[in-house]
Amino acid sequence: MADRPTDQEPVTEPQADQVPREASPLVTRAASLGLAAVVICLAAFSILGAYRMQTQIVRAEREESLRASYEKAIVAIRAEDSSVVEYLLDPSPARRVALGDATNGLIDAINAIEVHGSQSDSELAKGVMSVHDKFVAASTRLVDAIVIGDPAEARRIEVVEAKPAFDAMRSQIDAAANVRATEAFSALTELQATARWILIESPVVFAIGFGLLFGLWRILEQSHRAARETYRQIEQLSKLRSEFVSIVSHEFRTPLTGIQGFSEMMRDENLTIPEMREYAGDINKDARRLARLITDMLDLDRMESGRMTLNSEPVDLNRIVAETAAQFRLSAADHPIALDLDEGLRGLVGDSDRLTQVVTNLLSNAIKYSPSGGAVELRTERAEKTVTLTVTDHGMGIAAEHLEKIFDRYSRLETTETRAIQGTGLGLPIVRQIVQMCEGKVWATSESGRGSVFHVQLPLLEATAQGSSAA
Ligand code: ADP
Repeated sequence: MADRPTDQEPVTEPQADQVPREASPLVTRAASLGLAAVVICLAAFSILGAYRMQTQIVRAEREESLRASYEKAIVAIRAEDSSVVEYLLDPSPARRVALGDATNGLIDAINAIEVHGSQSDSELAKGVMSVHDKFVAASTRLVDAIVIGDPAEARRIEVVEAKPAFDAMRSQIDAAANVRATEAFSALTELQATARWILIESPVVFAIGFGLLFGLWRILEQSHRAARETYRQIEQLSKLRSEFVSIVSHEFRTPLTGIQGFSEMMRDENLTIPEMREYAGDINKDARRLARLITDMLDLDRMESGRMTLNSEPVDLNRIVAETAAQFRLSAADHPIALDLDEGLRGLVGDSDRLTQVVTNLLSNAIKYSPSGGAVELRTERAEKTVTLTVTDHGMGIAAEHLEKIFDRYSRLETTETRAIQGTGLGLPIVRQIVQMCEGKVWATSESGRGSVFHVQLPLLEATAQGSSAA
């Protein structure tokens, strides 16, 4: 036998724990922080890359311009050297002017080094200029010695003063120019390396960064979606709760009012025995209705929470259908109930009480929702691995968009026609729960205004196994 509910068990309202949990706030916070961190890292990487490139460009330009100044100084020193020799050979005013120009050119180049160079360049420029001054002074005295015709003195000045000064100046500039050339080359190499790094490594870094951003964004999106879904379900739950309260209070109040009214009449009025019997019958009917309501609620709750187990015994579905139909025939004269039972159907394994409940609920609905009367047909059919029960009526039917919804708890369709019909919205959810526990399916097809067909499909796996072993 299936578990029966006990009287102590509470009636269950729609519960908040039916709402799925939204994504953990910790995950959401971590994803947001991760997102911000990745954006900051990418921004820092871009700024750092741009800054590094910019400083290296500035350094390379400076090194290159200094290298060019040293080059100019070397050219100028050579020009001054040859101008001195030319002037010594031909001390004409034109040569003098040329020598002056060469000297000015050298001074300009040294000044440029002093202005644009570093501290060491400036010191070097100052040193070179003082040596240059000595060289110019020696050259002047050399020219004077030649002019007064003293070749020995001229020779001495050239060898002891002018040439060493010139050589010192030249070797200082040459050495510094070499250092500058090396520095300019290294600055250029560094710049090229940075450019290569930006060209090759930055796309990889950005691809990883964007990948991370996308992943984190997806996590956030999912958590927002989960949150939205949670709120939607909470809203739905709250709506269901109000519906539940209104349905339950209405459904409970109607029989209770009857019981109260009839019992007061029995208490206060002088009734005959037949009248007493009639009122007692009414009270009994209302009390039964209340009991059924409570039982349905408890049953559904126990099924949904997995606290109810089904019996697994051989059941004769045809017999269940025939017996249930016979019971209904007594009270539903306007609804001729026709049976079309598959005689080859036997050996189904299940819970006979619960299957009776399925047939009862479907048949009761077929009659209830055909208020103008009309035939109801119950049909069983065996296929290879399944058995299908169909309950067909010719009543008010169900709009296509509600065919799924009617299987939800407390989902009563509010139309002018259904308003007068009593119900709790628990019959079909109970049917669906039982069928699902039997690993079967239930669905409805209908045409509004022309009737409905409810299909229950149950698996015949165990029956088939039994059948074959019996054979
Ligand atoms: P109840 O009948 O107690 O309201 P059910 O869960 O049995 O609850 O049915 C849910 C709703 O589905 C009903 O309120 C009704 O609107 C609709 N319904 C069920 N069966 C039929 C049917 N055979 N014909 C038309 N409507 C139906």
